Amino acid sequence: MLFSQRVFCGQLTPNDVGRKVLLAGWVDAFRDHGGLLFIHLRDRSGIMQIVFSSEVASADVCEQAALLRAEYCIAVRGEVRKRLEGTENPNIETGDIEVLVTELTVLSESDALPFAVSEKAMVAGAASASADNVTEELRLQYRYLDIRRPSIRDNLIARHRIFQCVRQFLDSRGFVEIETPILTMSTPEGARDYLVPSRVHSQSFYALPQSPQLFKQLLMIGGMERYFQLARCFRDEDLRPNRQPEFTQLDIEASFIDEEFLYELIEELAVKMFAIGGIELKRPFARMTYTEAMDTTGSDRPDLRFGLRFIDVTDVFPQTNYSIFRQILQRGGCIKGINVKGQSDKLSKNVLQNEYAKEIVPSFGARGMTWMRAENGRLESNIVQFFSERELEALRSKFGVVDGDVLIMIADSSYAIVTSALGQLRLHLANRLGLIPKDSFYPLWVTEFPLFEATEEGGVTSSHHPFTAPDRADFNPKNIEELLKLKSRAYDLVVNGEELGGGSIRINNREVQRKIFEALGLTEEDMRQKFGFFLKAFDFGAPPHGGLALGMDRTVSMILQTPSIREVIAFPKNRSAACPMTGAPSMVKREQLAELGLLNLGGPDILPGTVENENMIDHLSWVSRIGITAEERPMIEDALAQAEELALLAAQNAGNEDPICTVAPAANRMRPGTEGKRSALSDTGQLLKSAPEVKGNYYKVASILE
Ligand code: ASP
Repeated sequence: MLFSQRVFCGQLTPNDVGRKVLLAGWVDAFRDHGGLLFIHLRDRSGIMQIVFSSEVASADVCEQAALLRAEYCIAVRGEVRKRLEGTENPNIETGDIEVLVTELTVLSESDALPFAVSEKAMVAGAASASADNVTEELRLQYRYLDIRRPSIRDNLIARHRIFQCVRQFLDSRGFVEIETPILTMSTPEGARDYLVPSRVHSQSFYALPQSPQLFKQLLMIGGMERYFQLARCFRDEDLRPNRQPEFTQLDIEASFIDEEFLYELIEELAVKMFAIGGIELKRPFARMTYTEAMDTTGSDRPDLRFGLRFIDVTDVFPQTNYSIFRQILQRGGCIKGINVKGQSDKLSKNVLQNEYAKEIVPSFGARGMTWMRAENGRLESNIVQFFSERELEALRSKFGVVDGDVLIMIADSSYAIVTSALGQLRLHLANRLGLIPKDSFYPLWVTEFPLFEATEEGGVTSSHHPFTAPDRADFNPKNIEELLKLKSRAYDLVVNGEELGGGSIRINNREVQRKIFEALGLTEEDMRQKFGFFLKAFDFGAPPHGGLALGMDRTVSMILQTPSIREVIAFPKNRSAACPMTGAPSMVKREQLAELGLLNLGGPDILPGTVENENMIDHLSWVSRIGITAEERPMIEDALAQAEELALLAAQNAGNEDPICTVAPAANRMRPGTEGKRSALSDTGQLLKSAPEVKGNYYKVASILE
């Protein structure tokens, strides 16, 4: 087989009719018509129909061909010919031609498949097979087969194109691609680190980078001026949809620049990347401060493809007779609302009162909501009688009300509750009422974030990361109130309500950097230990610099409009951060732990893996994270012995007809000195009040138990 003569299935056109070709690939699908066997031969470039006819191919070839099954890997020689009129297949790009086979080589056989790989029907009008009904777990377990599916293959190729576009564009702008270490030390981005034990330096660990933040800033101090990297980053976060423990970000940093430089650069790049998916982004991108975003959409990543912006109506009700509003305002609260324009036919009184006010809005964390429908030039609702004509008129004018509009207002003494609940309601209504235009893309820069957020312990934490420049440097790092008022020079790029990336202008002054660490509660010793090398670099002429990172998995997924980011990653982890194909993460042998010095770590609180102290109680205590005191040990030993006895009994009984319902006398066991506490609702029937009520596939239960 002379593979050098091979041509690609997808590259043949009607101009090749009459040409003798060698094709190689996989059997995608076949149709046997007695003397004629049709096969869809698939390679990376596409599909070609190949035909085995007893009139052209030898009996041997035909016999061998009859044994071909899905996903056999084969090579064929034959002649390209035009298909007979009426037999063209519009499902494939080469549907006007086919190859009449003369020679066949089976390169490799295939077992029966766990799911169909073929996506292209062999005849016009037939439904194409698809793996949509296959569980994702199975697809990930056999990801190499899943990748043979044209849709995943195309995603990976498009991803490659987008990455190439990034590289070319940034190169043309003077950016240099530089790799930074994977085995490194912790970089603070707000997640937990993945740790890698060092064998050579016993009991010491590397951290995988949450981002190359420190290194890219050091590259600026090193004078590289413009850096980028398609960097793999690792963050051990709680599982959330569309998150991966390892992901790829386009990491950028530049010196002697300001925000405008980065906006211009990234907008131009985004336009180019989205164009690869046939999407036109309009420049300049809109901008909105964090405060405006929260005030008008309740989100720091607003979806602006549709209206429903909040209007603040707090000042309409200073002396209202409506007691709920009055009390909230007396407590310093606020009232915000949205005008759902022209939707009163879809939002009946019943839907507004029984679905939204009673169920949906409380589930968003607000106590309730107020609604009004505009009909016959008037505002109607169940409580409209409590409002004065002046108040109603003010609402009509603030919301620009016309007949058919629906006003929804949320009031609460907490600004955070009002904005968060109304923000969720905004998205809920937009989805339910179909207000989000299809195929529209709305990029937005969100700017002027608060530099810090308050912690529960009364301190502050960085909203972005501690290297972000504040809007002013003359703050007192001990004054929490002042710290919480500082704004940062950070920016996020948001498209359609999804944060694609973000960054900031950095601190390049060592005193300011120290003050930020001090504000975060780091002692001199902490600073030296965690960031000593970094702070030291600022002693040697750090240039002004800034940058950002774009989440490339998310960006590619948005450009290709795939339902999840896993569709654009070759070998993603599943939703529980595991790989069904390799079985990672997996247990390791005790010897391997020993070699890494990981047995006997942790001093007196010896881990369960420890040889000297391997004992059931320690193990249980460790896995349940419940400390067991010496006095409690006999009691627990006793309980374990009983459980073992009962387990034995249960095993002996396993063959009996009657199942054992309970293996121990049921009792509420409390630690001595702990009082059992009954729920105040337990006798009232409130707890399971709505338990028998079924809605869809769910049982309804009371939303707040206590
Ligand atoms: N290091 C940041 C991140 O990964 C991005 C940046 O500030 O450039 O989120």
